[in-house]
Amino acid sequence: MSENFRDARRQLECLLGAGTIGDISLPYGWIGLFEAFAIYMKALSQEVRSGVSIQQIKEKYGTLRIYCYAPDEVFDLVGAAELASNAVCGICGHAGCMRESGWIGVRCDIHAQDQPGRSRRVAASTRQTELAVQMLRDVWGQELGREGLEAIARIHIVPI
Ligand SMILES: [Zn+2]
Repeated sequence: MSENFRDARRQLECLLGAGTIGDISLPYGWIGLFEAFAIYMKALSQEVRSGVSIQQIKEKYGTLRIYCYAPDEVFDLVGAAELASNAVCGICGHAGCMRESGWIGVRCDIHAQDQPGRSRRVAASTRQTELAVQMLRDVWGQELGREGLEAIARIHIVPI
């Protein structure tokens, strides 16, 4: 795990308590997204946070997955982080989309290794979608930009 992820993990552990977080294994490009998730966790009440236990945070089928026991409010953030990860390059953190050819993952045009992008269907609530867009603004410095908007447009959100 890189030093940055160690710092972010420590911050999250300070919020949730020692021993509440299991393995974290994420591509480097998602450090900003992980930090955004931690910041949104900080905004939740102590009461909500005290009920959180995270087993694992990892990349699965190209998106960020957070496996945890937690109150419902936390699952809004978990779903938002997963949704947002569909638009964040795992190598550099810039806007990207899902690529699939032998490997599957989100990559920007520069890191795509000539693999064409594909759209992806993701089930998400309105609240999760709003939070995901806010997280992407945080990751990219408030400006979604043309590439960011295009990346978001490639995600086909199925309302839940
Ligand atoms: Zn990239």
